[in-house]
Amino acid sequence: MHRRHLSPVLLLGAGTGEATCGILYLAGYLRRNGIEAFVRLYDGDDSQEEVTRSLEALVARVRPRLVGISLKWFHHVHRALLLARTLRQIDPSIRIVVGGNTASYWWRELSAYDCIDHIVLGDGELPLLALCQGEPSPPNCVTRAADGTPKRLPLTYVQGATNSEDVYYSHFNDIFLSHQDRHAFSGWVAPGKGCGENCLYCGGARGNQKAAFGRAKPFLRSEESVRRDHQEISPRTWQLRYDFSGSSAEFLQSTWAGVDLSRHSCTYFLWGVARIELIDALAQTFERVHMVLDIGCFSEQQRHEQMRRGLLKPCASDRELFELIDRCRRHPNLDIEISGIAGLPFASAATLEEEVRLVERVIRLDCVVGYQRLEAQPGALATEHPARFDMVTEARTFTEFLEYSSSA
Ligand code: SF4
Repeated sequence: MHRRHLSPVLLLGAGTGEATCGILYLAGYLRRNGIEAFVRLYDGDDSQEEVTRSLEALVARVRPRLVGISLKWFHHVHRALLLARTLRQIDPSIRIVVGGNTASYWWRELSAYDCIDHIVLGDGELPLLALCQGEPSPPNCVTRAADGTPKRLPLTYVQGATNSEDVYYSHFNDIFLSHQDRHAFSGWVAPGKGCGENCLYCGGARGNQKAAFGRAKPFLRSEESVRRDHQEISPRTWQLRYDFSGSSAEFLQSTWAGVDLSRHSCTYFLWGVARIELIDALAQTFERVHMVLDIGCFSEQQRHEQMRRGLLKPCASDRELFELIDRCRRHPNLDIEISGIAGLPFASAATLEEEVRLVERVIRLDCVVGYQRLEAQPGALATEHPARFDMVTEARTFTEFLEYSSSA
């Protein structure tokens, strides 16, 4: 039986600003499989009126049969629902799909909203394509029991090192709807996916990844697919950005092959102790490098206490940190930012003093300091069991996070 494709497709981020790069990977994948996909990468709408006006214009221009809303971050849940409701009012025939980490985590609660037709759980490429192709049982989608209760079947599509070669950037000349939108792309590349750590404040930690994406361990994508990303984007952006700690100098060098990045900037986020080879490779490849090293917490004592209890990823000791800074300073085109979180458990007057001392020392070495307030995410250990750490949380349930995100 011939099934009619749902095409064109429009992909949006749930929040304002630049959407997650996941919608670019999805759009390329859909295009390579015969679906005319577009993205709106940058969303600057503040008020309900602005949201309505710009969605009306987008719908009139693209005439999408399906709109996918990327709901990765929990701050955006209120706005994701606003977008879905507005789209439903503009054109009730458009199929509305949400996906991403937060959508996967709150699938049951989101199923109660009639402005959402489908919720994609975990990795989205194949499920979204199956929805567009009218498959009666698309993988990784929330289904309903006979009495209408939402049901979550085991995930059958889980990306890993050997089945993700078909996920890569392409069609950058076709998927953007304006030059402004195209130039909003800030160069994100994902060399891998997932995380095997267990930071107590993180909703993307090992256990949650396993539950939401079916993946307990991170994986590196194939060199060929990451190389394709670089080939597609390097003529179209002045910077590349990476936020995945599992890749090495050898891996990245092989994926940069054939691409001239000598006039590009690079921002590299990582935790743990950066390998010297990686630092040298970045400095030799790019014109400028900004390296952001996450050390968890500026107090070494507090950092080690959390690591000892398995509540924080492996982070550099102070000695390792200063060796690294020293090594980085040999590269005049590389600067370094040290970031940590304020408000983690096991703090005391002594650890606070330690934090101040380390921050001052790092600043004296001309490094940037990034010091963020603790934000415990849905499903994180600190959110679910704050009393274990002598803490309280402002939000734990969907309703509480929804209220929190309505003011975000
Ligand atoms: S914060 Fe920790 S658990 Fe979360 S993604 Fe980063 S390393 Fe993994």
